[in-house]
Amino acid sequence: MSAVVVHGIGALCTCDPLLGDAPGVIRDAALVARDGVIVYAGPEATLDRSDVPRGALEIQVRGAAVIPGFVDAHTHIVWLGDRGDEYAQRAFGVTYDEIAASGGGIRATVRATAPGTVDDLAAAGRERARRMLASGTTTVEVKSGYGLEHEAEMRELDAAERLRQWPDLPDVVATYLPLHVTPDGPRDAYMDDVCTRGVTAAAKRATFVDAYCETGAYTVAECERLFTAAASHKLRPKIHAEQLSHSGGALLAAQVGAVSADHLEHATNTDFEALSKAGVVGVILPGASLVLGGPPPPGRRLLEAGCRVAVATDCNPGTCYSESMPLMISLAVALGGLSPAQALVAATAGGAAALGLTDRGILRAGLRCDAVILETTNWVDVGYHLGADIVDSVMLEGRLEVPSKA
Ligand SMILES: [Zn+2]
Repeated sequence: MSAVVVHGIGALCTCDPLLGDAPGVIRDAALVARDGVIVYAGPEATLDRSDVPRGALEIQVRGAAVIPGFVDAHTHIVWLGDRGDEYAQRAFGVTYDEIAASGGGIRATVRATAPGTVDDLAAAGRERARRMLASGTTTVEVKSGYGLEHEAEMRELDAAERLRQWPDLPDVVATYLPLHVTPDGPRDAYMDDVCTRGVTAAAKRATFVDAYCETGAYTVAECERLFTAAASHKLRPKIHAEQLSHSGGALLAAQVGAVSADHLEHATNTDFEALSKAGVVGVILPGASLVLGGPPPPGRRLLEAGCRVAVATDCNPGTCYSESMPLMISLAVALGGLSPAQALVAATAGGAAALGLTDRGILRAGLRCDAVILETTNWVDVGYHLGADIVDSVMLEGRLEVPSKA
């Protein structure tokens, strides 16, 4: 049995919709976890000593704010190589499309990543996952997508599984993303392979299947074919949709009942209405929107259409090299039109919804105890204090982790 009691919480931001206005703040609160599960999240004054497990580690946080651990529902953290040169080129006006056309972009990462062993890939992912934990992330979705052939894709998923087994990292949810960049060889043969051998092998390693539906990447028909093949292996779809142009991915997400549709900068009101009706979570990736300089992330438009919204990092070597969810909250407010409270909910409960997880993202008795103890008494500082390190310590499934700031 392991138990932790956090006393003296000035503002416990539960992100619990049952507690009224977001982010469901309880003042002068305590949080109690036993064996990784919250057993009490409420006012200190009504905490019954009999609810405190014997032998519990009791800590006093002197008025600090506590929030749920971030659920980063869209990342590509298993990659090798470096694309800092492209970053510099873009600063001189070379576009993302021009870089891709000259052999850079995702293709450059595929060349660097595909030969990597599972150990190499896991080691690279581990560094990024540690930085994620240090900035308050307790669950991270990890996509494949830099393999572009069967064995290399499976090594990426095996590396994600390796990350999941390390107890000092965020929990990992794996996604099979075989349709990312287009293959060098015959496209039909690649599709055939992915839709047979690929989905069969991925089903043992991943929870979701994903595709990049975009002009110059994969068509709606190809994405639909993948999702149909994956469905018989119980891999639920996610989709990169309407990022650089309007390609029809959002309507496909609604049609196939995807768990989420991600990016959506070029989505229309018709798309948002369809996503809302189908219960598809809209994932905004404001770091990528910022770097690419196109339309803003459609946070407010999604909410106005009645959609659930998640905000995620899209951590990848090309369009958003950032592990920081607090930075994404800042950008979701500055660019995406969300209020600080809406952005915090999108980064926690929203992220959980985008991964189909009902056991986290909210601080409530009975749910997984993933929480962040902040260095500040004001939870708004998470986004407001731009680029600051506001994490004091992290509760990862009820265990207290004080991530290294080195
Ligand atoms: Zn992505």
